[in-house]
Amino acid sequence: MAALDYVALAQPGIRALRAYDPGLDLVALRRGFAEGALVELGSNENSHGPSPAARAAILDSLHSLHRYPDPLGGDLRRALAACHGLEPAQVILGNGSHELLMLMGQVFAGTGRGVVSSQYGFAVYALAAQAAGAPWTPAPARPVDDAMPRGHDLEALLAAVGADTAIVYLANPNNPTGTWFDTAALADFLSRVPANVLVVVDEAYLEYVTDPALTSAVPLLARFPNLAVTRTFSKGYGLAGLRVGCLLADPGLVAVLERVRESFNVNLPGLAACEAALADHEHLAWVRRQNAIEREALADALSARGLAVSPSQTNFLLVDFGRDAAPVEAGLVARGVVPRPMAGYGLPTCLRLTVGVRDENRRLLQALDEVLA
Ligand SMILES: *Cc1c(COP(=O)(O)O)cnc(C)c1O
Repeated sequence: MAALDYVALAQPGIRALRAYDPGLDLVALRRGFAEGALVELGSNENSHGPSPAARAAILDSLHSLHRYPDPLGGDLRRALAACHGLEPAQVILGNGSHELLMLMGQVFAGTGRGVVSSQYGFAVYALAAQAAGAPWTPAPARPVDDAMPRGHDLEALLAAVGADTAIVYLANPNNPTGTWFDTAALADFLSRVPANVLVVVDEAYLEYVTDPALTSAVPLLARFPNLAVTRTFSKGYGLAGLRVGCLLADPGLVAVLERVRESFNVNLPGLAACEAALADHEHLAWVRRQNAIEREALADALSARGLAVSPSQTNFLLVDFGRDAAPVEAGLVARGVVPRPMAGYGLPTCLRLTVGVRDENRRLLQALDEVLA
């Protein structure tokens, strides 16, 4: 039987698309190590874990697993709205913020409606463009010797915006660079972007920020109807396994996204756990504090080894080894430590390392010393 050319059958955007690279096959890798022995620093997960209240809420929700979840996610949306000083109609929930980033592309980008993002911006933005069949224009990043190496260059992003631009995606702080820009710079950027260009500010790491000059873009929603902000429970809240994120924007923008959102995209344990996690301010503050302490200690330790470490307001560090990092990655994995390679981002000399708990960071440094010796 002749095989079908499924790629040729796909719509043009999908034909050129490469699937998101999730890194190593962790499930297979875990089998080779004793339970819990692998130090997993490849996906920027929260090694401190979620609020105990979130665990309790999940157990509670198990009584109702035969029921569909609330298709409107009403309780969680109201809680998020209250937390951000917004109306519930300004909140849409997603199966992770990834889903909402893709949904923005599906709804607003397409042929002749392009997407702009930074050269070392999050890989999902280019994916959202291509999946929608939209042209993607990368704006050059800041230089390596900048105070924010390879970070977003807001002037370059503005210059890349053209008559056919529909969406600009920004991450603040950015993954994989860890770099950031302050709230005043974002406000200036928004005042200069054409009013009909949607600007998505991805705040996946905002819970980890300790620089007082960087605050959430959410208060800017009142001034800029073309702004949308995404947040997630996957990072600071430590609930990556549940897949819950949200997008905050004008009620009109949210209403258009709602037209294509799958009604039960956030599951029952997810809704319950996130509402509980949101209320546990103490746990979040503790995570932020612990991460900041470990982030600084790890950055210092890596710098002391002569490595170039980018400044970071996140729970990860971008480290430049100044030579092909693939052998370093292989050496670390062989010793049970999992980093994220950066060749896919065009940074083959770099690895991205999640900041773990103290013992994980110690084991990372020990493995690294062996590999570099
Ligand atoms: C991790 C991450 C997300 C979060 O994705 P979820 O789908 O919410 O888990 C979004 N944006 C960036 C830049 C990230 O690094």
